[in-house]
This record gives sequence, structure tokens and C-alpha cells, in this order.
Amino acid sequence: MQENNPPADHDAEASVLARFYHAASRHLAAFADFDLKAMSPLRLASHIALVLVIIGVLALTQLQPPEWRMSNALVLPDAAPTPTPEAVVSVAAYGGSSVKSGGPLVRSAAPFTTIPHRPRTDILTYEVQPGDTVFGIAEKFNIKPETIMWSNPTLEQNPDMLRIGDKLVILPVDGVYHKIKKGDTLAKIAKKYKVKIEDIVNFEWNHLDSADAALTPGEHLIIPGGEKPYVPRVVSVYQGPIPKNAKKGSGSFVWPASGYITQGFWNGHRAIDIGAWLGSPVVASDSGYVVFAGWDRTGYGNLVIIDHGNGYRTYYAHLSAIFVRVGDSVAQGVRIGSVGSTGRSTGPHLHFEIRYRNVQRNPLGFLH
Ligand SMILES: [Zn+2]
Repeated sequence: MQENNPPADHDAEASVLARFYHAASRHLAAFADFDLKAMSPLRLASHIALVLVIIGVLALTQLQPPEWRMSNALVLPDAAPTPTPEAVVSVAAYGGSSVKSGGPLVRSAAPFTTIPHRPRTDILTYEVQPGDTVFGIAEKFNIKPETIMWSNPTLEQNPDMLRIGDKLVILPVDGVYHKIKKGDTLAKIAKKYKVKIEDIVNFEWNHLDSADAALTPGEHLIIPGGEKPYVPRVVSVYQGPIPKNAKKGSGSFVWPASGYITQGFWNGHRAIDIGAWLGSPVVASDSGYVVFAGWDRTGYGNLVIIDHGNGYRTYYAHLSAIFVRVGDSVAQGVRIGSVGSTGRSTGPHLHFEIRYRNVQRNPLGFLH
């Protein structure tokens, strides 16, 4: 650093900077703690320039509103070309949000534009992920959970029969995915699923010319609006005499496990799933005696059923451990097993049912 000795031969540019230095130094003197005069004008000017650049950058990054950037983008001709009719058609044919399709059309679409919902026209395949439930997958695709059950035979009896990696058929509309059998006619199929023949014929995906079109066994039809009846699962339980020491239920139920509800009660899942850590306690929701304890092959995995002697039975499924035997008397709140992921299940949870005279009731109506 040169002290009290500014260069005598400074040129015009330096003198401009020097004047700037004098002006700026008066303002900066209040803030700076060093001896301004001890610095060369050129050196200090470069310092000031640097400070100004930093302030400018900070101001731009902190103050620039998002709208400002967007209007800049619209000014640039390359960033926002007029969508060609072909591009619009390709997005329409894609059937989904234009955000997923590539090309310049995406950039021109302002985030504030409401993209109209266009119905899907084709079947999608979805691979089951950890923690998935039929209900959750249905929400993802904006269809009813029943539609997923009625288009994937493994789930038809039991929507808990999900396994990570399973590939599921996702219909474009609510209804049934029907595999054509020998002897099927459109009239029969329409009657079976409670729809009109023309609903099936008019659905483009089916490629049917008329109500008399020939059907090829083994091929599939989409039945829009079709429904299948609910068939409850049957588990053979203890049928013998009620044990003498059998406790009677109080008629009030306590939570059988601590956790969070991962799947609620709906037409195809007449139970609740309580997500919890593997091995966490499962307790008797009410007093009673055990009528089933062991492995169930229909998808419940390790299962305990307790009869409460008052018309109610409770089901505890997918257990990792069972601590009771058939005929055991259990008091409300006593531990009967551990939360698991047995059977076909996408993660540890307790599948819990309350049945009154074998009709599944919504457990949330009993648990408080
Ligand atoms: Zn369940």
C-alpha cells in the first residue's frame, strides 16, 4: 500500500474514478472504519465498484419477484413460441397434463393456467410401492378403489393382497375389466355388471362395431360403470362349545394397536389398517375368547379372531407373532400378538375388523 503518495501521472479515467472516490468516500466514511486517504484512488475505486456489484446482485436476487422473471421469459421469442395445432393435438392425445410432455409448449404454459381435466382413454400399469394401499392407489389415479379390485383378480377377494412390485391394471374409467370367456355375449356381460349393452359398445377402447360384434375368448373388455357384488371372505373358526371361563365382551372396544390409519373402511375393505412398527403390541379390543389363531391362506396371514359372546367378533390380521391359542379367554386390553406384515401386505400394519353377526362394521364407529 502506498502511503500519502497518489501517483502523479494518473490519466483521465483515473481522475474520473478519483472524483467518484471523493464523492463516494464522503458517504462511505460514516460506515467504513479505515483511513480512506491512505488508499490509492484507483484501488479504492475498484473496491467501491466491487461493493456496488455485490449490492446490485443482492438486490436483484432478493427483490426480483417471480412474476418479473416470468414476464421476461414471455418477452423472449425463443422461450414462448406460439403452440402449433400439431402440438396441441399431441397433448390432447396424450390425455394427461401437458407438464409431462416435452417440447416448447411446456415452457409457454403459465403455471396459473388451469389445465382442463381430460379423461384417460387407455389402460395404465402401476407397480405397487412399499406402503401402498388399494385406496391410496385409487386416489392417485382418480378412480374408485373398487375399480382396482375389479380389474385385478388377485385383489378381488381381498384388497390387502397387495405385494410390492405387483403390476396392477389401472382402467381409464370406473368399472370392471372383464376377461371374455367362451359363450360370453354382450347381453350376458351387460346383465352381470348391471350396465347397458351400448355402454360397452360405445366405449372406444373395446373396438366393438355393434351389439352383435363377435367376442374373442381370452381378450378383455372394459365395462364402464360396471359393478361386481361384494363377497365376504370366509375363515373357518372354532365351532365347538364356548369355553366355561370365556370372558364376555363389554360391548365397547378399545384400539387394538397404536399407530396411524393407513387405510380406512370402504366397500371393498371393510376394516381399518393401522400402520405401526413391526413387533409393536396388538391387544384384544374387547374381552372374549379366541376362535382362531394361526395362519390364514386367504390373505390375512397370521390371524387372531376373538368372539366376544355378544354377537361381535374382532379380527386381527398380518401379525408377526401370536401369543394366544384357540379357546383362550382374553380380557380387554390384553396383548394377543405383534404387528407384522405377514400374508400379502406392503408394510407392517394391523388389519382390524369388527363383525356383528358376521357383518363387517366400520371400526371407526366403535373406537373413540
Ligand atoms: Zn386391511
